[in-house]
Amino acid sequence: MKQVFPYELIFFHSLKQDRPERVLAVKLDGTETMSDHTEQLKLPDSFTFSQSSLQDYTDCPRRFQLRYIEQLHWPAVETEPVKENEIRQQEGQLFHRLVQQHLIGIGPEKLNALVNTANLERWWVNFLHTDFKLVDSRKFTELTLSTPIGENRLIAKYDLVAVQPGGKVIIYDWKTYKKRPRDEWMAARLQTRVYQATIVQAGAYLNDGIPFEPEGVEMIYWYAETPSDPAHFSYDTTFYKREWKTLTGFISEIKNHQHFPLTEDERKCAYCTYRSYCNRGIEAGNAEDMEEIPLTGTDANFEQIAEIEY
Ligand code: SF4
Repeated sequence: MKQVFPYELIFFHSLKQDRPERVLAVKLDGTETMSDHTEQLKLPDSFTFSQSSLQDYTDCPRRFQLRYIEQLHWPAVETEPVKENEIRQQEGQLFHRLVQQHLIGIGPEKLNALVNTANLERWWVNFLHTDFKLVDSRKFTELTLSTPIGENRLIAKYDLVAVQPGGKVIIYDWKTYKKRPRDEWMAARLQTRVYQATIVQAGAYLNDGIPFEPEGVEMIYWYAETPSDPAHFSYDTTFYKREWKTLTGFISEIKNHQHFPLTEDERKCAYCTYRSYCNRGIEAGNAEDMEEIPLTGTDANFEQIAEIEY
């Protein structure tokens, strides 16, 4: 759910810098205040955390502050070449839609007409030729689950949740990355950690009112470019308890933060929209040079599509 922000921000640019020097905050009641960035805006008490916002925080506290507290929309591109990456993002979103439509019962013959680029065609053919072994499962596509965490809520938006007889649950997530990441890198992503913990916390209604045992939870990233090499992540109770404590700790830390420092890993800045704002460079990083730098825009999944739409 998009947060309601009670200000409209107007930026005053210096001719010598590409970052605003001062911000005129116009409250919705019409009153105005001039800020020099030292004025402390606060995270709304009702803020709903997600894997995206927690990933931003762990990547760079300042990015979290700019994106979710100040709600600053900064126009820098994330990666070069811009056009190619934008097209790939759009293809990724369309691929997610195709898969979702197919999983709710629309046949490929009706969807094939939408497959109109080489990338999409390759991913679509790969998907149709993969046996996900879903025959006996109850399938929930583009499912949103939300659970209380401390005084806030945590939300997870799944591409596909498949509940098997006996209470085992498999979380599927479709990835259209150019390069397949290492499993260790994916295991550490907040998406993996939030999605698994949330299904244990909030998935009971998918299982006749019985919470899923962590031991019955599996998460699978299926890579459209390497369809026969998905990443599998199992789960257990000890790990779940530790993860929930960690996630709760992150949220408490964020809420108690007075200062959101810039990341010390400046490689992340080359792929961040705020790099000119933070004086961390002008040029966007090249997607071809990217190994496993966390991005927020190129990984088109349902959560991001949903966040764009809502
Ligand atoms: S440019 Fe770097 S320091 Fe600034 S928000 Fe982005 S990642 Fe953080």
